Amino acid sequence: MPSLSPPSADTRRPPSVERLLAHAAAAPVIAEHGRTALTGAIRAVLEAVREGRLPLGDEPALLASAAGRLAAEARPSLRPVFNLTGTVLHTNLGRAPLPSEAVVAVAAVMTQASNLEFDLERGERGERDSHAEALICRLTGAEAAIVVNNNAAAVLLVLNALALRKEVVVSRGELVEIGGSFRVPDVMARAGCRLREVGTTNRTHLRDYDEAIGPRTGLVMKVHPSNYAIHGFTAEADEADLGRLCRERGVPFAIDLGSGNLIDFAAYGLPPEPTVQEALRRADLVTFSGDKLLGAVQCGLIAGRRDLLARIRRNPLKRALRVDKMTYAALEATLRLYLHPERLRERLPTLRLLTREAAEIRAQADRLSGLASESLRGWAEVAVEPCISQIGSGALPVETLPSACLALRPPGRGPRGGGWLKRLGAALRALPVPVIGRIGDGALRLDLRTLEDEAGFLAALAALAPPPTRP
Ligand SMILES: *Cc1c(COP(=O)(O)O)cnc(C)c1O
Repeated sequence: MPSLSPPSADTRRPPSVERLLAHAAAAPVIAEHGRTALTGAIRAVLEAVREGRLPLGDEPALLASAAGRLAAEARPSLRPVFNLTGTVLHTNLGRAPLPSEAVVAVAAVMTQASNLEFDLERGERGERDSHAEALICRLTGAEAAIVVNNNAAAVLLVLNALALRKEVVVSRGELVEIGGSFRVPDVMARAGCRLREVGTTNRTHLRDYDEAIGPRTGLVMKVHPSNYAIHGFTAEADEADLGRLCRERGVPFAIDLGSGNLIDFAAYGLPPEPTVQEALRRADLVTFSGDKLLGAVQCGLIAGRRDLLARIRRNPLKRALRVDKMTYAALEATLRLYLHPERLRERLPTLRLLTREAAEIRAQADRLSGLASESLRGWAEVAVEPCISQIGSGALPVETLPSACLALRPPGRGPRGGGWLKRLGAALRALPVPVIGRIGDGALRLDLRTLEDEAGFLAALAALAPPPTRP
């Protein structure tokens, strides 16, 4: 290829689209992205050159710009990141990482037909909930179970199916907002129920419920205060007493548990967290998330009395809120792990990450800090420090887990401005596999509790662009 441009930038004219497409360097780009896409990218590059947003390089440089554009466009929008925020179940970062057993099960039903709604024994139409129901019942003691899109959907469906145009009795201390878009009073209104508030913000007694229950009552509901705690002069009605009262008065009693914990946390050295099994001994129905402490995929589970679940199943909203085969496959495979408690910790990523010892994480931080410092040279000085992780997703808001982190601080004695840390944070987010940490107290901290792929993390850091020159 003859070189095309004379040295003076002002008089040079960019090559034509056709000429660039015919260049030898275009062939591999065409093979990967196609001629149509490359033509569009070249046009965009040439326009940027004409408008002075891009320098006029030689032909290979122009083609490299076009290829860079195509590569950026081809990168999936939804992709893996390193969650080193210290929040294990981070709603914005996808909550629970799935066990490999679940991934295999999902892949198996994705590429071919399955018995999603087909009873293989009878050879006739079956019920999609059957794939998870028996396991949920076995693990929780429930008589029946339904799976829907998430726990918000589970609550909506329970309310609409059991208390349409009726009153739902809830304590004023539990009229909570969960994650900004799920407010108990709003969900209730949308479900077509009338909220009957009882008690006060800090104290609600059994007699408050007793006085409120009447002919208009459709449901009594308790909401687990997932993301906050009220301390001091407080009282709430005992759930067992409330369950007895509801049975006497003949109204169903539901507990919205939020996090779906099935195991004794104390046995794993974790702060106590109520289990679905306990809640079901007191309530007729329990609703909980699939991707919080349960450690499975996004879904909402409703477990409890058979007659109530039959009413819920007949509700037309069930169809609108149902989940697809991938969700059942992932949920079933994850629930199966609970049948083998001895190996649960090793196989269920959520539990494995939550139960990591601070000393082990500290040793990992010591192990990685040297290579991390190399990659961060000029950007930050790296120190290994203790820190506190959180469970996240509203679970156990006040309980925290001791951990260890790489604390990144601006190097040298220059201004320790938050501006520099923000730029570092942005550079880490711009990596091919973004690294997400937490900025605070003059440092950007990478909590290693949730880091399992050490090699991938070091490779990601090694791709960090050199730091901008500081003023
Ligand atoms: C998290 C939570 C919800 C919402 O669950 P999603 O699965 O996010 O829809 C509802 N209620 C409580 C108590 C929760 O903790």
